[in-house]
Amino acid sequence: MKIFIDPGHGGDNPGAIAATGLEEATVNLDVSLRLGNILTERGYDVNYSRTTNINVSLAQRARLANLWGANYFVSIHCNSATNTTYNGTESFYYRNGTVAQRFAETVNTALVRQIELVDLGVKARNLAVLRLTTMPAILVELAFLSNPREARLLGTESFRQNCAVGISNGIIEFTQ
Ligand SMILES: [Zn+2]
Repeated sequence: MKIFIDPGHGGDNPGAIAATGLEEATVNLDVSLRLGNILTERGYDVNYSRTTNINVSLAQRARLANLWGANYFVSIHCNSATNTTYNGTESFYYRNGTVAQRFAETVNTALVRQIELVDLGVKARNLAVLRLTTMPAILVELAFLSNPREARLLGTESFRQNCAVGISNGIIEFTQ
């Protein structure tokens, strides 16, 4: 079972930036590597769109997953909003009624159960990495870097590990 993990942003594209200066690309990569380690230990084949702080185009991320023949694609991001009270966890898939929708629901539920943030649910969204991938693909927004409490959590190793555990629980539940 091949899981392709896509840490969002990187390089000259830091993604969202918290008031503390914490960059989304850094959190995404750390959680992605932790997730990959857990899945590898559980016998999954894991590949990444990036394992260092570089920027990879959205089309290239999808192309790498397609060429590798991934069974599932999981993109890891942190949310951000102008309203700093916004908080919680949500996940996206491309089209309603697909395997990807059920995959997103399973992973989002398992993640929320583990990290105990507000469950914002799953939604269909036209995002390039979801549209251009040929396997069931989801994009997880762990928490809001724009929210002071969640930014503080995202800065800690224990919370990042919990994110990885929660997502891996969902992947394992869905693929077994
Ligand atoms: Zn992002």
